Amino acid sequence: MSAGPVYLDYNASAPLKPAARDAMLQAMACGGNASSVHRFGREARRIVETAREQVAALCGTVSTQVTFTSGATEANNAVLKTFAGERILVSAIEHPSVMESAPGAERIPVTPEGIIDIPAFEALISQGPPPSLVSIMLVNNETGAIQPVADLAKRVRSLHPGVFIHTDAVQGMGRVAIDFPALRVDYMSLSAHKGGGPQGIGALISAPGARPARLLSGGGQEKRQRAGTENVAAIAGFGAVAAEIQADLARQPTLAALRDRMEQCVRAVEPRAAVVGADAPRVAATSCIALPGIPAETQLMILDLEGCAVSSGSACSSGTVKASHVLEAMGLPSSIASGAVRVSMGWATTDADIDRFIRAWTTMHGRVNGRIG
Ligand code: PMP
Repeated sequence: MSAGPVYLDYNASAPLKPAARDAMLQAMACGGNASSVHRFGREARRIVETAREQVAALCGTVSTQVTFTSGATEANNAVLKTFAGERILVSAIEHPSVMESAPGAERIPVTPEGIIDIPAFEALISQGPPPSLVSIMLVNNETGAIQPVADLAKRVRSLHPGVFIHTDAVQGMGRVAIDFPALRVDYMSLSAHKGGGPQGIGALISAPGARPARLLSGGGQEKRQRAGTENVAAIAGFGAVAAEIQADLARQPTLAALRDRMEQCVRAVEPRAAVVGADAPRVAATSCIALPGIPAETQLMILDLEGCAVSSGSACSSGTVKASHVLEAMGLPSSIASGAVRVSMGWATTDADIDRFIRAWTTMHGRVNGRIG
């Protein structure tokens, strides 16, 4: 029986991988500014460019298309704000860094399984003026649902060849193979910390011909795409996790087996427990489990006391619990949407962690049993 707390919140932030920590420590020892011409600067530049190659290789592209940013929030803001005032379509399940960067955007509906509703998407793109930008995430952070981005890109381009397409691929990194050219998008956002890299570093991948998406000015860094001294250590850490991506992908079937075992045990304890988006194509490492009528925050607190760190599928702001816009867009009844807990696993998750979670969940269930429904 594992004694310490169990971390099952990788979609919020994955634990730092040893390779990332080592690369960062080495880079911090260098200390130069990557724009300086002396030997310290050249060494910092070498670290940055090596990492750029590693990130490019992670998504099947070339290093000239990689711009380092402070994370995916910045990359998403940069793209969406470049098209301000034009017609933008975004899926109804995007991260707030997409949604709030394009407040006037039209929302593409999703099915009850949390996948883009293709007939509704086609209706949207065939009416009104051609959109300038379409933004659809690759993998949803709450349900793990994988969106058919390449297919949707093909559909929209066959009607509107000039449209620009963006995908937030943050939750795909290390969970699904990411082939930037095959996705047929113009922009893609990545974030290192969802894959075991450091927090505060990400990338915007831009295809040749994409409209420049610049948020920051005041320096010539990143080929004038993103001003500001590069965070050399964080970039090195990002490169190190990008270099391990094949090992992460190879581990997905093992994680899928852990997830399936966990979901089966939970459903055996409580048949009224619902696995949100269970029938959608989804990544191995995310499970959104709802106990109808039991507020997610209540469940999280009991699970935390029992030593398991998970997240809620609801957003909590100023003391009031609001069902998440993702689960709402899927049309789930509010008793389910407000009772959904997200379990997300990753590179260090073990069988023993899942055993511990099942025990914690069973204890939690015993405490709230009389109120389910
Ligand atoms: N998009 C998605 C789908 C995410 O899950 C997150 C992280 N919560 C972000 C964007 C933001 O990434 P970052 O933390 O790098 O700003």
